[in-house]
Amino acid sequence: NAAIIDGKSMAEEIMSRIAFEVKRMKESIGKVPGLAVIMVGQRRDSQTYVRNKIKACEEAGIKSMMTELPDHCKEDEVLNALSRFNEDPSVHGILVQLPLPQHLDEAKILDVLSLEKDVDGFHPLNMGNLALRGREPLFIPCTPKGCIELLIRSGVEIMGKRAVVIGRSNIVGLPTSLLLQRHHATVSIIHAFTKNPEQITCEADIVIAAAGVPNLVRGNWLKPGAIVIDVGTNPIEDPSCEHGYRLRGDVFYEEALRVASLITPVPGGVGPMTIAMLLSNTLDSAKRAYNFT
Ligand code: NAD
Repeated sequence: NAAIIDGKSMAEEIMSRIAFEVKRMKESIGKVPGLAVIMVGQRRDSQTYVRNKIKACEEAGIKSMMTELPDHCKEDEVLNALSRFNEDPSVHGILVQLPLPQHLDEAKILDVLSLEKDVDGFHPLNMGNLALRGREPLFIPCTPKGCIELLIRSGVEIMGKRAVVIGRSNIVGLPTSLLLQRHHATVSIIHAFTKNPEQITCEADIVIAAAGVPNLVRGNWLKPGAIVIDVGTNPIEDPSCEHGYRLRGDVFYEEALRVASLITPVPGGVGPMTIAMLLSNTLDSAKRAYNFT
């Protein structure tokens, strides 16, 4: 059976280091990092993610601010909220919770976000610098960074390994594949048009699943001893659970357990690590803004 990567306790370790650094910053210069969140609409999953992020800020001593806008708001309202946070020197990180409602132009909004405050790493210049050799992005997207952190903390050497990323979204799959290349893995990408994906995954030493399809990756898709990072967080209706649903990953966990050597659970794997990376990016940004080392 595979060993389980305990993302929750790894994230807690990082969070306590961040809390320590925030305290040190406050004591020596009287400032704390600030994170601003812009949320449009009332998607239940987005609300949960945002709530968790804000709670984590509180625990770490990071100041958080939130602007909530209605589903039908105008693009200008989002851009105005964004400009205010761009100009506010007590804000070091700005997060526009995605996805935005259909009528809003996500690209236009992300273009306006200050590069220095783009703690999600979704600004095209940060993403471009992530893709280009010899350049360094100011911020690396949180979920991809969290996946790599989980691998490194589990003692996995990435260099020279065959990695497969399932999914190519701007926020997870694409930056994860770029980041794995930075760590010198040989990377294949699987997406909705890929034929016979199992033939590709079964050659991989490292599989990172981010398709948003519950139980997509079966046990027989995996090479024995593979390392599996499951990004998927798919709600499955279950009246016996507290909120009426439970979370299921993109990997058929029970089957994969028998084949893989290391695996992340859902929940308790990538999710907590993503939040830890967000706070870490916010702390770095504040340190950069105040020239605090
Ligand atoms: P998305 O819908 O934007 O992208 C999904 C990608 O998967 C697309 O590139 C698509 O081509 C590919 N895909 C879809 N069906 C496929 C199939 N049958 N076979 C192969 N590829 C397929 O989703 P996203 O925003 O990238 O999120 C992916 C998953 O990760 C979701 O379950 C989401 O909830 C989860 N997620 C988790 C975290 C976290 O912190 N744990 C963060 C972000 C997203």
